[in-house]
Amino acid sequence: MGNSHHNFVDGEWIAAETGETFENVNPADATRAVEAAVAAADGWETTPGPERGRILQAASERLAARKNELTEALIREEGKARPEAAGEVQRAVDIFAYYGAKARDFRGTVKAASSPDTTLYTVQEPMGVAALITPWNYPIAIPAWKLAPALATGNAVVFKPATNAPDVARMLVECLDDAGLPPGVVNMVTGPGSVVGSVFTEHEGVDAVSFTGSTSVGLAVGAAAQEAGKRVQLEMGGKNPTVVMPSADLERAVDIVASGAFGVTGQACTACSRAIVHEDVYDEFLEALVVAAESITVGPGLDGADMGPQVSADELQGTLEYIDIARGEGATLLTGGSRLTGAPYDNGHFVEPTVFADASPEMRISCEEVFGPVLAVLPVGDFEEAMEVANDVEFGLSASIVTQELTEANRFVDEIEAGVAKVNDKTTGLELHVPFGGQKASSSETYREQGDAGLEFYTLSKTVYMN
Ligand code: NAP
Repeated sequence: MGNSHHNFVDGEWIAAETGETFENVNPADATRAVEAAVAAADGWETTPGPERGRILQAASERLAARKNELTEALIREEGKARPEAAGEVQRAVDIFAYYGAKARDFRGTVKAASSPDTTLYTVQEPMGVAALITPWNYPIAIPAWKLAPALATGNAVVFKPATNAPDVARMLVECLDDAGLPPGVVNMVTGPGSVVGSVFTEHEGVDAVSFTGSTSVGLAVGAAAQEAGKRVQLEMGGKNPTVVMPSADLERAVDIVASGAFGVTGQACTACSRAIVHEDVYDEFLEALVVAAESITVGPGLDGADMGPQVSADELQGTLEYIDIARGEGATLLTGGSRLTGAPYDNGHFVEPTVFADASPEMRISCEEVFGPVLAVLPVGDFEEAMEVANDVEFGLSASIVTQELTEANRFVDEIEAGVAKVNDKTTGLELHVPFGGQKASSSETYREQGDAGLEFYTLSKTVYMN
């Protein structure tokens, strides 16, 4: 972005203690941030719920007022297409309004008297200080869906945005500051995960760690945080399938698979990266899918393209390596497969929407997360085989089926090993008021995010017997 930005600690934007940029961050900033959060935690806990709710609502209004600016920053920094970026910013606006309303409405539980002289009830208390570590692929929505419930329930926060997209995160924190959040309640420190993240996961002042990112980093962060006695929430990678059955409306199936696979440049944890297609409709489906993939305009989001670049040279390189691997494994490249160069692609990490057909379940392209616009299509002979293939990966985040048979839809919902199951819908796209999380290597499974469930991670239950 060509700018330098400061960390936000104890209510002030401060230069890194070394005076250097985060490529050479001083972990002291992260330590100071935790100390500021510890100092602010009691005051925020005792701030009445309605007041906390009012500040979150004000943050939502501030984000809404800056929507165009945030959308443009998101396009420039992370590379989303314009409607995707605008949708993500709106999601952050909605999340703060949603949890702001919740905080205004918290009330005591009904008394459960076990004897006439005992009053028995439970209270939910904040955890204390929550450390939030987020990925770059939804750099404003994911911080929002952690910050808002953490703050609504009275926790102070230390927050580390991803190095690839810290600027929209900074703007989000500015909105919280402008909304009147007391100093120290939210502290943001940018810098490499290995430095800032490890201070946050291990510091004794931190009570809970909520992480979203890759499975490899998440498992290491989770192990370190648990070792240090923290409550841990991990949301990680996916290899999300869409099953296409013979009864499917094929036009709709193609739309569902193409938008799931190539939306946000395939850089969604819930992106469809496997289409598992019944052999009766396999050829017809592929023919229409190639037409759909080739009709996607790729380019800078500010120019109105359908699909933007990958976020970084490293991510692009990773995608190109998987394309080579898939070729080497013998999958059939139907369309795409190349980096885009020349105008208007010179200044970005652009790659074509890519479809590999005739993939088999054991190929790496069929079971490893690519995190780019690359789809593997696997033919299957019947529903049982489709379910076997769909479940035969380490991940279990989101999954969908396209069918007009109710029995298949019901069996799919019962048998799929995933935290989100969709029928006649794409694997991407989430409602903010219902729980979200994965199974297997996609999630720590214990706590869900979003909706009412999103509050649980940030509170401890206490049962009170008053005689
Ligand atoms: P990542 O490399 O795992 O990084 C995630 C965050 O962890 C970043 O802020 C990163 O900092 C930080 N980090 C790295 N090493 C750390 C360490 N040792 N200790 C503490 N923190 C550390 O993931 P990403 O590339 O940003 O995001 C893409 C991944 O996220 C994909 O696998 C995707 O599926 C997953 N994801 C999952 C969900 C979900 O809800 N399940 C949602 C979105 C994305 P740096 O940026 O400085 O490296």
